[in-house]
Amino acid sequence: MEQRVILSGIRPTGILHLGNLLGAMRHFVELAKDPKNFCMYFIANQHAQTTGMDPVSAAEMQKELLGIVLDFMACGLDPNSDNVLLYAQSSIPETSELAWMLSCVATVSELMGMHHFAEKREALKTGSDTASTGLLTYPVLMAADILGPNAHLVPVGADQHEHVELARSLARRFNNRFGVEHFRIPELLEGPGIRVPGLKGQGKMGKSEPKGTLSLHDSPDLIRTKIKKADKRLPDNLSTGEKSIEPRIEDQPGIPEKCRVYLLHALACNSAAEEMEIQFGCRRGTLRCGDCKHMLANRIVDMLTPIQERRRELNAQGGEKLALEILHEHGKRARAIIAPNVQAIKELTGIPTY
Ligand code: ATP
Ligand code: MG
Repeated sequence: MEQRVILSGIRPTGILHLGNLLGAMRHFVELAKDPKNFCMYFIANQHAQTTGMDPVSAAEMQKELLGIVLDFMACGLDPNSDNVLLYAQSSIPETSELAWMLSCVATVSELMGMHHFAEKREALKTGSDTASTGLLTYPVLMAADILGPNAHLVPVGADQHEHVELARSLARRFNNRFGVEHFRIPELLEGPGIRVPGLKGQGKMGKSEPKGTLSLHDSPDLIRTKIKKADKRLPDNLSTGEKSIEPRIEDQPGIPEKCRVYLLHALACNSAAEEMEIQFGCRRGTLRCGDCKHMLANRIVDMLTPIQERRRELNAQGGEKLALEILHEHGKRARAIIAPNVQAIKELTGIPTY
């Protein structure tokens, strides 16, 4: 049976959150249940260096990386399965060699034009003269992550579509220039298409934006407190173009589609009937906002409790030591797939290892 190589990464920039769970992890776990898929999931520690490159970030990142391996398992990924590899990006030094070769195919203007360069530069409050070169060129490293193992499918959220498009362009350009079909052109795999907003403010929920984030490790009490304080107004960019409005005034009938709490209910609900119950209660004004938030908190506590229990079991079985063993073993296996491909490209481009 020919398997499809599925490749995706997650940055060790903090503890995983509800957005990562609903937008990525759940999908990754489902994909790995299909034996037709060969799933290569990596922890993108080199990409994380674009956010923090100093002694404190270095120490935090190593801890977070091991935590993410354990959280992947707590969310249901089985690293003992034949069709799963869970590895650190830095375990495959050949990917950086490939990124170099691809950077000689990519143009400065296409990198300068990528949304992420502008957005991240803004988020890091860095002017154009102090933004690191890594921030500009990391999409090329991501192209190398994808093209190194000749991935068929890349499941990523909407925020990453532009990067997959770049990987496709670079693969085509390289193949044309050398007159070979060396790289497979990777396809984007549409995921759940979910973008979980932060509990507060304007942005999406994000690891490097701890304000407004519900971490997979938050205790039930903390989840309840955070949801009690959550904004009801949607972030403006989710409010279909116009500026967001107050979705509910006291006991008046509410407008659920304008409410962040309702959106979170809809994302976390198990059935359409549950979602309808909240929607009608809000629209009729019979479900009070406090009760609606309380129901959401319970829903999320119920979702996270089994993950947290499983994580405690993994900690008891060796925790970080267990994660390190997986990284060593899977890193070796991933490298055995990627290194020969990169070697072939080095030879093709005239830079063999003499
Ligand atoms: P950072 O703030 O450091 O960029 P992040 O929370 O955005 O961290 P990533 O490591 O960049 O997480 O992304 C991992 C995966 O989780 C990607 O597939 C991304 O699309 C998905 N993801 C991240 N945040 C959300 C969100 N709020 N809603 C849905 N999916 C998300
Ligand atoms: Mg991100």
